[in-house]
Amino acid sequence: MSTCFVDQIATPEILLRVTNVCGECYDDLLEGDPIYYDMQTYRYLCKKCYEILCEKMNDDCEVIEEEGLFH
Ligand SMILES: [Zn+2]
Repeated sequence: MSTCFVDQIATPEILLRVTNVCGECYDDLLEGDPIYYDMQTYRYLCKKCYEILCEKMNDDCEVIEEEGLFH
């Protein structure tokens, strides 16, 4: 369970007013799907991308990918 995301169920309102595709893989989000709001990047993710991202994140919700990028 990650605190970096808010999990929701896709509603028509979200799909119409915010987004109807995953912010990562651009798959369609459908009404009733579990969706995950990424509070670091302000986008909604599908379950698949959420799980992938969760594994890459440290305790500060930072994605650990490119080692040394910030040095
Ligand atoms: Zn996705």
